[in-house]
Amino acid sequence: MSADLTTTSAADLSRALQAGDLSSAEVTRAYLDRIAADDGELGAYLHVDAEAAVTSAEAVDAARAAGEELGPLAGVPLALKDVVVTAGVPTTSGSRILEGWRPPYDATLAAKLKAAGTVLLGKTNMDEFAMGSSTENSAYQVTRNPWDRDRIPGGSSGGSSAAVAGGLAPWSIGTDTGGSIRQPAALTGLVGHKPTYGSVSRYGLVAFSSSLDQAGPMARTVLDAALLHEAIAGHDAHDSTSIDCPVPVLAEAARRGAEGELAGLTVGVVRELGGEGHTDGYEDGVLDRFSAAVALLESMGAEVREVSCPAFDLALPAYYLIAPSEASSNLARFDGVRYGLRVGDDGSRDLDEVMALTREQGFGPEVKRRIILGTYALSAGYYDAYYGQAQKVRTLITRDFTSAWDDVDVLVSPTSPTVAWSIGARVDDPIAMYAADLCTLPASLAGVPAISVPCGLSEGLPVGFQIMAPALADDRCYRVAAALEAAQDAARGHRLLDELGAKENTAS
Ligand code: GLN
Repeated sequence: MSADLTTTSAADLSRALQAGDLSSAEVTRAYLDRIAADDGELGAYLHVDAEAAVTSAEAVDAARAAGEELGPLAGVPLALKDVVVTAGVPTTSGSRILEGWRPPYDATLAAKLKAAGTVLLGKTNMDEFAMGSSTENSAYQVTRNPWDRDRIPGGSSGGSSAAVAGGLAPWSIGTDTGGSIRQPAALTGLVGHKPTYGSVSRYGLVAFSSSLDQAGPMARTVLDAALLHEAIAGHDAHDSTSIDCPVPVLAEAARRGAEGELAGLTVGVVRELGGEGHTDGYEDGVLDRFSAAVALLESMGAEVREVSCPAFDLALPAYYLIAPSEASSNLARFDGVRYGLRVGDDGSRDLDEVMALTREQGFGPEVKRRIILGTYALSAGYYDAYYGQAQKVRTLITRDFTSAWDDVDVLVSPTSPTVAWSIGARVDDPIAMYAADLCTLPASLAGVPAISVPCGLSEGLPVGFQIMAPALADDRCYRVAAALEAAQDAARGHRLLDELGAKENTAS
Protein backbone atom coordinates (compact mmCIF):
# COMPACT_ATOMS: atom_id res chain seq x y z
CA MET A 1 0.00 0.00 0.00
CA SER A 2 2.67 2.47 1.01
CA ALA A 3 4.60 1.87 -2.24
CA ASP A 4 1.42 2.81 -4.13
CA LEU A 5 0.81 5.95 -2.12
CA THR A 6 4.30 7.20 -2.81
CA THR A 7 3.88 6.93 -6.58
CA THR A 8 0.35 8.38 -6.70
CA SER A 9 0.02 11.87 -8.18
CA ALA A 10 -0.73 14.68 -5.74
CA ALA A 11 -3.98 15.38 -7.62
CA ASP A 12 -5.11 11.79 -6.97
CA LEU A 13 -4.04 11.99 -3.32
CA SER A 14 -6.03 15.20 -2.98
CA ARG A 15 -9.12 13.53 -4.49
CA ALA A 16 -8.82 10.49 -2.21
CA LEU A 17 -8.36 12.70 0.85
CA GLN A 18 -11.41 14.78 -0.03
CA ALA A 19 -13.49 11.66 -0.63
CA GLY A 20 -12.40 10.29 2.74
CA ASP A 21 -10.82 7.21 1.11
CA LEU A 22 -7.49 8.10 2.66
CA SER A 23 -6.31 9.93 5.75
CA SER A 24 -3.55 12.49 5.72
CA ALA A 25 -1.82 10.62 8.55
CA GLU A 26 -1.76 7.49 6.38
CA VAL A 27 -0.21 9.29 3.39
CA THR A 28 2.22 11.22 5.57
CA ARG A 29 3.40 8.04 7.32
CA ALA A 30 3.89 6.31 3.96
CA TYR A 31 6.20 9.11 2.89
CA LEU A 32 8.00 9.19 6.23
CA ASP A 33 8.60 5.44 5.89
CA ARG A 34 10.11 5.94 2.45
CA ILE A 35 12.29 8.75 3.78
CA ALA A 36 13.48 6.57 6.66
CA ALA A 37 14.27 3.72 4.27
CA ASP A 38 15.86 5.60 1.38
CA ASP A 39 17.07 9.03 2.33
CA GLY A 40 20.22 7.76 4.04
CA GLU A 41 21.49 6.91 0.57
CA LEU A 42 19.62 9.50 -1.53
CA GLY A 43 20.48 12.51 0.66
CA ALA A 44 17.47 14.54 -0.51
CA TYR A 45 16.53 16.06 2.84
CA LEU A 46 18.48 18.31 5.18
CA HIS A 47 15.76 18.34 7.81
CA VAL A 48 12.80 16.07 8.50
CA ASP A 49 10.52 16.40 11.51
CA ALA A 50 8.42 13.22 11.43
CA GLU A 51 6.56 14.01 14.61
CA ALA A 52 5.55 17.50 13.48
CA ALA A 53 4.46 16.12 10.10
CA VAL A 54 2.24 13.45 11.67
CA THR A 55 0.81 15.99 14.13
CA SER A 56 -0.19 18.39 11.37
CA ALA A 57 -1.57 15.52 9.27
CA GLU A 58 -3.72 14.39 12.18
CA ALA A 59 -4.94 17.93 12.71
CA VAL A 60 -6.14 18.04 9.08
CA ASP A 61 -7.84 14.66 9.49
CA ALA A 62 -9.58 15.86 12.65
CA ALA A 63 -10.72 19.06 10.94
CA ARG A 64 -12.07 17.07 8.00
CA ALA A 65 -13.86 14.64 10.34
CA ALA A 66 -15.42 17.62 12.11
CA GLY A 67 -16.85 18.77 8.79
CA GLU A 68 -14.66 21.87 8.42
CA GLU A 69 -14.49 23.41 4.96
CA LEU A 70 -10.98 22.54 3.69
CA GLY A 71 -9.14 23.44 0.50
CA PRO A 72 -8.19 20.82 -2.10
CA LEU A 73 -4.58 20.54 -0.94
CA ALA A 74 -5.43 19.96 2.73
CA GLY A 75 -3.59 16.92 4.04
CA VAL A 76 -1.29 16.47 1.04
CA PRO A 77 2.34 16.31 2.21
CA LEU A 78 5.09 18.32 0.55
CA ALA A 79 8.78 19.21 0.75
CA LEU A 80 10.27 22.70 0.61
CA LYS A 81 13.69 23.60 -0.72
CA ASP A 82 15.78 24.80 2.21
CA VAL A 83 15.96 28.30 0.71
CA VAL A 84 12.36 28.86 1.86
CA VAL A 85 12.21 30.49 5.29
CA THR A 86 10.03 28.48 7.70
CA ALA A 87 9.06 29.69 11.17
CA GLY A 88 10.77 27.64 13.87
CA VAL A 89 12.05 25.10 11.34
CA PRO A 90 15.79 25.08 10.50
CA THR A 91 16.56 26.98 7.29
CA THR A 92 20.14 26.85 6.00
CA SER A 93 19.97 27.61 2.27
CA GLY A 94 22.59 24.85 2.02
CA SER A 95 25.16 26.99 3.83
CA ARG A 96 27.16 26.57 7.04
CA ILE A 97 26.69 30.25 7.70
CA LEU A 98 23.00 29.63 8.46
CA GLU A 99 23.54 26.44 10.44
CA GLY A 100 21.26 26.36 13.44
CA TRP A 101 19.10 29.28 12.31
CA ARG A 102 15.43 28.86 13.11
CA PRO A 103 13.66 31.75 11.40
CA PRO A 104 11.08 33.76 13.33
CA TYR A 105 8.68 33.95 10.38
CA ASP A 106 7.29 32.08 7.37
CA ALA A 107 7.98 32.98 3.76
CA THR A 108 4.75 34.09 2.09
CA LEU A 109 4.60 30.92 0.03
CA ALA A 110 5.22 28.76 3.12
CA ALA A 111 2.42 30.57 4.94
CA LYS A 112 0.08 30.06 1.97
CA LEU A 113 0.86 26.35 1.83
CA LYS A 114 0.37 26.05 5.58
CA ALA A 115 -2.96 27.83 5.35
CA ALA A 116 -3.94 25.47 2.53
CA GLY A 117 -3.44 22.58 4.98
CA THR A 118 -0.44 20.95 3.32
CA VAL A 119 1.81 18.88 5.56
CA LEU A 120 5.50 19.78 5.63
CA LEU A 121 7.64 16.63 5.39
CA GLY A 122 10.92 18.48 5.51
CA LYS A 123 13.43 20.83 3.92
CA THR A 124 15.42 19.66 0.93
CA ASN A 125 19.10 19.87 0.09
CA MET A 126 20.40 22.45 -2.39
CA ASP A 127 23.55 24.07 -3.68
CA GLU A 128 24.72 26.67 -1.18
CA PHE A 129 22.57 29.80 -1.66
CA ALA A 130 21.21 28.14 -4.82
CA MET A 131 24.51 28.60 -6.64
CA GLY A 132 25.13 25.55 -8.74
CA SER A 133 23.66 23.00 -11.13
CA SER A 134 24.36 19.70 -9.36
CA THR A 135 23.63 20.19 -5.62
CA GLU A 136 27.28 19.28 -4.98
CA ASN A 137 27.87 22.81 -3.65
CA SER A 138 25.74 22.05 -0.59
CA ALA A 139 27.77 22.50 2.58
CA TYR A 140 26.08 19.43 4.05
CA GLN A 141 25.76 16.45 1.73
CA VAL A 142 25.67 15.08 -1.77
CA THR A 143 22.25 14.21 -3.20
CA ARG A 144 21.94 11.28 -5.57
CA ASN A 145 19.77 10.94 -8.66
CA PRO A 146 17.15 8.20 -8.11
CA TRP A 147 17.55 7.10 -11.76
CA ASP A 148 21.23 6.35 -11.22
CA ARG A 149 22.62 6.88 -7.77
CA ASP A 150 26.11 7.61 -9.08
CA ARG A 151 24.78 10.68 -10.85
CA ILE A 152 23.78 14.18 -9.77
CA PRO A 153 20.06 15.10 -9.47
CA GLY A 154 20.62 18.53 -11.08
CA GLY A 155 20.70 21.75 -9.14
CA SER A 156 20.35 23.88 -7.34
CA SER A 157 16.99 22.33 -6.29
CA GLY A 158 18.47 18.82 -6.41
CA GLY A 159 17.15 17.75 -3.01
CA SER A 160 13.65 18.59 -4.20
CA SER A 161 14.05 16.77 -7.52
CA ALA A 162 15.53 13.66 -5.90
CA ALA A 163 12.81 13.62 -3.21
CA VAL A 164 9.93 13.80 -5.70
CA ALA A 165 11.42 11.47 -8.33
CA GLY A 166 12.49 9.02 -5.63
CA GLY A 167 9.05 8.79 -3.99
CA LEU A 168 10.12 10.71 -0.88
CA ALA A 169 7.61 13.55 -1.43
CA PRO A 170 4.62 13.85 -3.77
CA TRP A 171 5.77 17.28 -4.89
CA SER A 172 8.04 20.09 -3.83
CA ILE A 173 8.77 23.78 -4.07
CA GLY A 174 12.01 24.76 -5.77
CA THR A 175 13.49 28.10 -6.74
CA ASP A 176 14.88 29.11 -10.10
CA THR A 177 17.31 31.97 -10.68
CA GLY A 178 18.92 30.65 -13.85
CA GLY A 179 17.35 27.22 -14.20
CA SER A 180 17.30 25.64 -10.75
CA ILE A 181 13.72 24.32 -11.00
CA ARG A 182 13.74 23.32 -14.66
CA GLN A 183 17.16 21.67 -14.93
CA PRO A 184 16.84 19.35 -11.89
CA ALA A 185 13.28 18.51 -12.99
CA ALA A 186 14.63 17.63 -16.45
CA LEU A 187 17.43 15.47 -15.04
CA THR A 188 15.10 13.43 -12.82
CA GLY A 189 12.06 13.03 -15.10
CA LEU A 190 9.82 15.59 -13.38
CA VAL A 191 7.77 18.59 -14.38
CA GLY A 192 9.21 21.89 -13.13
CA HIS A 193 7.92 25.38 -13.81
CA LYS A 194 9.57 28.77 -13.36
CA PRO A 195 6.72 31.27 -13.06
CA THR A 196 6.67 34.74 -14.63
CA TYR A 197 9.04 36.90 -12.59
CA GLY A 198 7.05 38.73 -9.93
CA SER A 199 4.06 36.38 -9.97
CA VAL A 200 5.09 34.33 -6.92
CA SER A 201 6.20 36.22 -3.82
CA ARG A 202 9.91 36.26 -3.03
CA TYR A 203 9.25 37.36 0.55
CA GLY A 204 11.05 34.89 2.78
CA LEU A 205 13.19 33.24 0.11
CA VAL A 206 16.86 33.55 1.03
CA ALA A 207 17.92 35.98 -1.71
CA PHE A 208 20.49 35.01 -4.34
CA SER A 209 19.91 37.32 -7.31
CA SER A 210 16.81 39.35 -6.60
CA SER A 211 16.01 40.42 -10.16
CA LEU A 212 15.94 36.75 -11.23
CA ASP A 213 14.82 34.62 -8.25
CA GLN A 214 11.42 32.94 -8.56
CA ALA A 215 9.88 30.01 -6.68
CA GLY A 216 7.81 27.37 -8.41
CA PRO A 217 6.52 23.81 -8.39
CA MET A 218 8.36 20.54 -9.02
CA ALA A 219 6.00 17.63 -9.51
CA ARG A 220 5.36 14.25 -11.15
CA THR A 221 2.69 15.49 -13.53
CA VAL A 222 1.82 18.73 -15.29
CA LEU A 223 -1.52 18.91 -13.46
CA ASP A 224 0.20 18.51 -10.08
CA ALA A 225 2.62 21.32 -10.94
CA ALA A 226 -0.30 23.56 -11.93
CA LEU A 227 -2.18 22.86 -8.68
CA LEU A 228 0.86 23.60 -6.54
CA HIS A 229 1.65 26.73 -8.56
CA GLU A 230 -1.88 28.10 -8.07
CA ALA A 231 -1.48 27.61 -4.32
CA ILE A 232 1.60 29.85 -4.09
CA ALA A 233 0.85 32.52 -6.71
CA GLY A 234 -0.59 35.97 -6.16
CA HIS A 235 0.23 39.50 -5.17
CA ASP A 236 2.16 40.15 -1.95
CA ALA A 237 2.73 43.60 -0.51
CA HIS A 238 5.86 42.27 1.23
CA ASP A 239 7.63 41.84 -2.12
CA SER A 240 8.19 45.11 -3.96
CA THR A 241 8.51 43.33 -7.32
CA SER A 242 5.30 41.36 -6.86
CA ILE A 243 2.88 41.83 -9.76
CA ASP A 244 -0.58 42.92 -8.72
CA CYS A 245 -2.77 40.64 -10.81
CA PRO A 246 -5.13 37.74 -10.16
CA VAL A 247 -3.85 34.23 -9.46
CA PRO A 248 -3.51 32.56 -12.87
CA VAL A 249 -5.83 29.72 -13.85
CA LEU A 250 -3.40 26.90 -14.50
CA ALA A 251 -4.93 23.55 -13.53
CA GLU A 252 -7.73 24.22 -16.01
CA ALA A 253 -5.12 24.92 -18.71
CA ALA A 254 -3.39 21.64 -17.86
CA ARG A 255 -6.67 19.71 -18.06
CA ARG A 256 -7.53 21.31 -21.38
CA GLY A 257 -4.03 20.64 -22.68
CA ALA A 258 -4.29 16.97 -21.82
CA GLU A 259 -7.08 16.69 -24.40
CA GLY A 260 -4.25 17.05 -26.91
CA GLU A 261 -5.74 19.55 -29.34
CA LEU A 262 -3.12 22.07 -30.44
CA ALA A 263 -4.60 23.41 -33.69
CA GLY A 264 -3.99 27.15 -33.96
CA LEU A 265 -0.87 27.05 -31.77
CA THR A 266 2.40 28.22 -33.29
CA VAL A 267 5.55 26.74 -31.78
CA GLY A 268 8.96 28.34 -32.32
CA VAL A 269 12.03 26.12 -32.09
CA VAL A 270 14.93 28.29 -30.93
CA ARG A 271 17.83 27.83 -33.33
CA GLU A 272 20.42 29.10 -30.83
CA LEU A 273 19.44 26.42 -28.30
CA GLY A 274 20.56 23.20 -29.98
CA GLY A 275 19.54 24.02 -33.57
CA GLU A 276 21.69 23.98 -36.70
CA GLY A 277 25.11 25.46 -36.04
CA HIS A 278 24.43 25.56 -32.30
CA THR A 279 24.83 21.95 -31.23
CA ASP A 280 28.15 22.27 -29.39
CA GLY A 281 27.82 20.70 -25.96
CA TYR A 282 24.44 19.09 -26.75
CA GLU A 283 24.23 15.32 -26.55
CA ASP A 284 22.78 13.55 -29.59
CA GLY A 285 20.37 11.62 -27.40
CA VAL A 286 18.97 14.87 -25.99
CA LEU A 287 18.53 16.40 -29.45
CA ASP A 288 16.84 13.21 -30.71
CA ARG A 289 14.32 13.15 -27.86
CA PHE A 290 13.70 16.87 -28.33
CA SER A 291 13.04 16.54 -32.08
CA ALA A 292 10.69 13.63 -31.48
CA ALA A 293 8.70 15.75 -29.03
CA VAL A 294 8.51 18.65 -31.50
CA ALA A 295 7.20 16.21 -34.12
CA LEU A 296 4.59 15.03 -31.63
CA LEU A 297 3.37 18.61 -31.07
CA GLU A 298 3.12 18.99 -34.83
CA SER A 299 1.09 15.79 -35.08
CA MET A 300 -1.36 17.31 -32.58
CA GLY A 301 -2.00 20.24 -34.86
CA ALA A 302 0.62 22.78 -33.80
CA GLU A 303 2.40 24.76 -36.48
CA VAL A 304 6.15 24.52 -35.97
CA ARG A 305 8.75 26.96 -37.24
CA GLU A 306 12.35 27.78 -36.44
CA VAL A 307 13.02 31.08 -34.72
CA SER A 308 16.37 32.82 -34.35
CA CYS A 309 17.15 34.64 -31.10
CA PRO A 310 20.74 35.80 -31.67
CA ALA A 311 21.27 37.39 -28.25
CA PHE A 312 20.62 34.04 -26.54
CA ASP A 313 24.23 33.17 -27.42
CA LEU A 314 25.30 35.76 -24.85
CA ALA A 315 22.95 34.68 -22.05
CA LEU A 316 25.58 32.65 -20.23
CA PRO A 317 28.22 35.38 -19.80
CA ALA A 318 25.53 37.99 -19.05
CA TYR A 319 23.94 35.82 -16.36
CA TYR A 320 27.28 34.97 -14.77
CA LEU A 321 27.94 38.70 -14.32
CA ILE A 322 24.47 39.81 -13.22
CA ALA A 323 23.74 36.96 -10.79
CA PRO A 324 27.08 37.15 -8.93
CA SER A 325 26.82 40.96 -8.83
CA GLU A 326 23.46 40.82 -7.10
CA ALA A 327 24.65 37.95 -4.91
CA SER A 328 27.67 39.92 -3.71
CA SER A 329 25.28 42.57 -2.47
CA ASN A 330 22.62 40.19 -1.05
CA LEU A 331 25.17 38.09 0.82
CA ALA A 332 26.63 41.11 2.61
CA ARG A 333 23.94 40.58 5.24
CA PHE A 334 25.69 37.45 6.53
CA ASP A 335 27.90 39.25 9.01
CA GLY A 336 28.08 36.80 11.90
CA VAL A 337 25.79 39.01 13.94
CA ARG A 338 22.30 38.64 12.62
CA TYR A 339 21.92 34.94 11.76
CA GLY A 340 23.35 31.49 12.38
CA LEU A 341 27.09 31.01 12.57
CA ARG A 342 29.49 33.32 14.46
CA VAL A 343 33.19 32.45 14.53
CA GLY A 344 35.90 33.80 16.87
CA ASP A 345 33.69 35.86 19.17
CA ASP A 346 35.77 35.16 22.30
CA GLY A 347 36.34 38.72 23.43
CA SER A 348 39.80 38.97 21.85
CA ARG A 349 38.65 40.20 18.43
CA ASP A 350 36.84 43.24 17.14
CA LEU A 351 33.68 43.14 15.04
CA ASP A 352 35.48 43.25 11.66
CA GLU A 353 37.67 40.30 12.56
CA VAL A 354 34.71 38.23 13.75
CA MET A 355 32.85 39.10 10.56
CA ALA A 356 35.81 38.13 8.35
CA LEU A 357 36.35 34.84 10.20
CA THR A 358 32.66 33.98 10.08
CA ARG A 359 32.47 34.64 6.34
CA GLU A 360 35.74 32.80 5.70
CA GLN A 361 34.49 29.67 7.46
CA GLY A 362 30.78 30.03 6.76
CA PHE A 363 30.84 30.31 2.95
CA GLY A 364 31.92 27.54 0.59
CA PRO A 365 34.26 27.96 -2.42
CA GLU A 366 31.59 28.58 -5.09
CA VAL A 367 29.89 31.25 -3.00
CA LYS A 368 33.22 32.98 -2.40
CA ARG A 369 34.00 32.80 -6.11
CA ARG A 370 30.72 34.54 -6.90
CA ILE A 371 31.13 37.21 -4.23
CA ILE A 372 34.58 38.05 -5.54
CA LEU A 373 33.41 38.04 -9.16
CA GLY A 374 30.35 40.13 -8.38
CA THR A 375 32.23 42.64 -6.29
CA TYR A 376 34.74 43.05 -9.12
CA ALA A 377 32.04 43.46 -11.78
CA LEU A 378 30.37 46.19 -9.73
CA SER A 379 33.50 48.07 -8.72
CA ALA A 380 34.25 51.59 -9.95
CA GLY A 381 36.12 51.46 -13.24
CA TYR A 382 34.78 48.02 -14.18
CA TYR A 383 31.05 48.55 -13.70
CA ASP A 384 30.40 49.77 -17.26
CA ALA A 385 32.61 47.14 -18.86
CA TYR A 386 31.07 44.18 -17.04
CA TYR A 387 27.82 44.76 -15.17
CA GLY A 388 26.66 47.51 -17.54
CA GLN A 389 27.41 45.42 -20.63
CA ALA A 390 25.63 42.43 -19.14
CA GLN A 391 22.53 44.54 -18.53
CA LYS A 392 22.58 45.63 -22.17
CA VAL A 393 22.72 42.00 -23.26
CA ARG A 394 19.79 41.32 -20.95
CA THR A 395 17.81 43.96 -22.82
CA LEU A 396 18.73 42.39 -26.16
CA ILE A 397 17.56 38.98 -24.94
CA THR A 398 14.25 40.48 -23.84
CA ARG A 399 13.90 42.06 -27.30
CA ASP A 400 14.54 38.69 -28.99
CA PHE A 401 11.65 37.28 -26.97
CA THR A 402 9.41 40.24 -27.74
CA SER A 403 9.94 39.95 -31.46
CA ALA A 404 9.49 36.16 -31.32
CA TRP A 405 6.04 36.65 -29.77
CA ASP A 406 4.99 38.48 -32.94
CA ASP A 407 5.29 35.17 -34.80
CA VAL A 408 4.86 32.34 -32.31
CA ASP A 409 2.85 31.51 -29.17
CA VAL A 410 5.57 29.56 -27.38
CA LEU A 411 9.28 28.95 -27.82
CA VAL A 412 10.75 25.51 -27.20
CA SER A 413 14.19 23.99 -26.62
CA PRO A 414 15.81 21.18 -24.68
CA THR A 415 15.89 22.07 -20.95
CA SER A 416 19.45 20.85 -20.49
CA PRO A 417 22.06 20.12 -23.16
CA THR A 418 22.92 16.82 -21.46
CA VAL A 419 21.41 14.17 -19.23
CA ALA A 420 22.52 13.86 -15.59
CA TRP A 421 26.29 13.50 -15.31
CA SER A 422 28.37 11.52 -12.82
CA ILE A 423 28.86 12.85 -9.33
CA GLY A 424 32.20 14.65 -9.22
CA ALA A 425 32.60 15.00 -13.00
CA ARG A 426 32.31 18.79 -13.08
CA VAL A 427 33.19 19.90 -9.54
CA ASP A 428 36.62 21.14 -10.53
CA ASP A 429 35.44 22.83 -13.71
CA PRO A 430 33.14 25.79 -13.01
CA ILE A 431 32.75 26.60 -16.71
CA ALA A 432 31.50 23.08 -17.45
CA MET A 433 29.12 23.41 -14.51
CA TYR A 434 27.82 26.78 -15.77
CA ALA A 435 27.32 25.33 -19.28
CA ALA A 436 24.52 23.18 -17.83
CA ASP A 437 22.37 26.35 -17.73
CA LEU A 438 22.71 27.19 -21.42
CA CYS A 439 19.05 26.60 -22.28
CA THR A 440 17.38 27.90 -19.12
CA LEU A 441 19.10 31.29 -18.77
CA PRO A 442 17.31 33.29 -21.50
CA ALA A 443 13.85 32.90 -19.89
CA SER A 444 15.36 33.82 -16.51
CA LEU A 445 16.97 36.98 -17.82
CA ALA A 446 13.77 38.07 -19.59
CA GLY A 447 11.53 37.14 -16.65
CA VAL A 448 9.23 35.04 -18.82
CA PRO A 449 7.64 31.76 -17.67
CA ALA A 450 9.17 28.43 -18.68
CA ILE A 451 8.32 24.83 -17.92
CA SER A 452 10.29 21.62 -18.25
CA VAL A 453 8.34 18.47 -19.05
CA PRO A 454 9.91 15.03 -19.58
CA CYS A 455 10.32 13.92 -23.20
CA GLY A 456 11.73 10.43 -22.81
CA LEU A 457 15.02 8.80 -21.90
CA SER A 458 18.48 8.90 -23.43
CA GLU A 459 20.69 6.02 -22.32
CA GLY A 460 18.21 5.29 -19.58
CA LEU A 461 18.23 8.84 -18.19
CA PRO A 462 15.47 11.48 -18.41
CA VAL A 463 15.51 14.30 -20.98
CA GLY A 464 13.59 17.54 -20.43
CA PHE A 465 11.61 19.61 -22.96
CA GLN A 466 11.40 23.34 -22.24
CA ILE A 467 8.39 25.49 -23.19
CA MET A 468 8.70 29.29 -22.81
CA ALA A 469 5.81 31.76 -23.08
CA PRO A 470 5.26 35.53 -22.84
CA ALA A 471 5.14 37.12 -19.37
CA LEU A 472 1.94 36.18 -17.51
CA ALA A 473 1.07 33.50 -20.07
CA ASP A 474 2.14 30.69 -17.71
CA ASP A 475 -1.10 28.90 -18.61
CA ARG A 476 0.26 28.40 -22.14
CA CYS A 477 3.28 26.54 -20.76
CA TYR A 478 0.97 24.23 -18.82
CA ARG A 479 -1.37 23.67 -21.74
CA VAL A 480 1.37 22.65 -24.17
CA ALA A 481 3.25 20.62 -21.54
CA ALA A 482 0.08 18.72 -20.65
CA ALA A 483 -0.58 17.96 -24.32
CA LEU A 484 2.92 16.60 -24.73
CA GLU A 485 2.74 14.61 -21.49
CA ALA A 486 -0.60 13.04 -22.42
CA ALA A 487 0.54 12.11 -25.93
CA GLN A 488 3.75 10.53 -24.65
CA ASP A 489 2.03 8.65 -21.83
CA ALA A 490 -0.51 7.31 -24.30
CA ALA A 491 2.20 6.24 -26.74
CA ARG A 492 4.23 4.39 -24.12
CA GLY A 493 1.25 3.13 -22.13
CA HIS A 494 2.52 4.43 -18.80
CA ARG A 495 4.16 7.44 -17.17
CA LEU A 496 7.89 7.93 -17.65
CA LEU A 497 8.41 7.87 -13.87
CA ASP A 498 6.89 4.38 -13.71
CA GLU A 499 10.04 3.20 -15.47
CA LEU A 500 12.05 4.35 -12.49
CA GLY A 501 9.87 2.20 -10.21
CA ALA A 502 10.35 -0.77 -12.55
CA LYS A 503 14.11 -0.19 -12.56
CA GLU A 504 14.21 -0.09 -8.75
CA ASN A 505 12.23 -3.33 -8.56
CA THR A 506 14.62 -5.17 -10.85
CA ALA A 507 17.62 -3.76 -8.95
CA SER A 508 16.38 -4.93 -5.55
N1 GLN B 1 23.02 27.01 -12.08
C1 GLN B 1 22.79 28.41 -12.03
C2 GLN B 1 23.75 29.05 -11.06
O1 GLN B 1 24.57 28.38 -10.57
C3 GLN B 1 21.37 28.70 -11.67
C4 GLN B 1 21.09 28.52 -10.24
C5 GLN B 1 19.69 28.82 -9.86
O2 GLN B 1 18.80 28.91 -10.70
N2 GLN B 1 19.49 29.04 -8.58
O3 GLN B 1 23.69 30.20 -10.77
